[in-house]
Amino acid sequence: MDRFEDFSSMSAEERQEWTAQAAGLSPEQRELLRQGGGLPLEVADSMIDNVIGTYALPIGVVRGMVVNGKEYLVPMVCEEPWVVSCAEKGAELAAQCGGFHATYTGSIMISQIQITQVTSPHVACLKILEHKREILELANQADPVLVSLGGGAFDVEAKPLDTEVGSMVITQLLVNTKDAMGANAVNTMAEKVAPLLAQITGGKAYLRILSNLAVHRLARVRVSVSREVLGGSAVVDGVLAAHAFAWNDPFRACTSNKGTMNGASPVACATGNDIRALEAGAHAYASRSGVYRPITCWERTASGDLEGMIELPMAVGIVGGTTRTHPMAGLLLRMMHVESAAELGMVIAATGLAENLWTLRTLATGGLQAEFVPSLERRQET
Ligand code: NAD
Repeated sequence: MDRFEDFSSMSAEERQEWTAQAAGLSPEQRELLRQGGGLPLEVADSMIDNVIGTYALPIGVVRGMVVNGKEYLVPMVCEEPWVVSCAEKGAELAAQCGGFHATYTGSIMISQIQITQVTSPHVACLKILEHKREILELANQADPVLVSLGGGAFDVEAKPLDTEVGSMVITQLLVNTKDAMGANAVNTMAEKVAPLLAQITGGKAYLRILSNLAVHRLARVRVSVSREVLGGSAVVDGVLAAHAFAWNDPFRACTSNKGTMNGASPVACATGNDIRALEAGAHAYASRSGVYRPITCWERTASGDLEGMIELPMAVGIVGGTTRTHPMAGLLLRMMHVESAAELGMVIAATGLAENLWTLRTLATGGLQAEFVPSLERRQET
């Protein structure tokens, strides 16, 4: 089977068949893909409140995404016309130069508990740290399954916060959520330990909820692309100029990051993950220096080639949430053949970098409209 068989000349049914074969889908899985939608009303009704129906979007697939030497079929669910082909073209450039190299810092989530009305917040923080073992034991009672899998709460941090409404103390539980995104898991832990923290500090507990700024849960991906593969030194210059523009202008950085998330978010959506959590984390991380910057970075190597990287908070899971309840999300996760949340997170971040690579290459050589509108018009005519 040709990895880059021309998809544009195939019907959607032929592409389904190609993908089913390439992914090794079972007859039942093929049938689910063929039926489309994949969300019975009774399942939808169990997912959110006030359900009145379901809403379908296209599923596209990126072929030839090579991450740490393994080749992936990457499903993307989105409504924007050329998002999938940008990611695939970026993946193809990368694959010609050895693919993407990725690491993951671990599935560490931060859960925050806010204690107000604390008269001596600095001393209260020390008292909280003195009770670290007790707090961790209590938190872990909330999720014996996670603990049995080697995860759970493993550290406690405490910080005073001076605010317009007075001093408060913020306690942070660090929790290894393993293969789960972990929002429900860590929120439950926060609720469990809040009364103890109020007792230790003499204050009043209010918020008990995760932080979506998952700075201890980063997917890091880098790629090198030779200038020959990219299209010449002038294209390298163009990509670097585009990056410098974004680095120094938040108006451009915002659009650059939107374009990068065009790659990452549709994969999160396809696999039943919380896109809003991913987007919130990405944009907050982009502002971590106090200035809003691009979440990717592009540089020239000593030999004049292009190197790039992305570093992205990556709170995604392969168990829990919608990943298992939504039948199509389960199917698309299996299609990717990922073994862990870490592996999924690295592929999602790599898809974001692939998207950004091809988008910048296109912007540096002519523009997105010039490249894609003619093919869209041809498709709409037929
Ligand atoms: P969950 O509670 O459905 O599943 C997680 C649980 O699965 C764990 O607590 C553990 O007990 C169990 N588990 C079984 N096998 C596991 C394994 N291999 N690794 C880890 N855990 C395993 O889901 P969740 O991941 O805690 O929460 C995700 C959901 O929370 C998403 O749907 C998200 O939209 C939602 N959410 C998000 C926010 C936010 O981002 N601010 C807030 C609230 C809820």
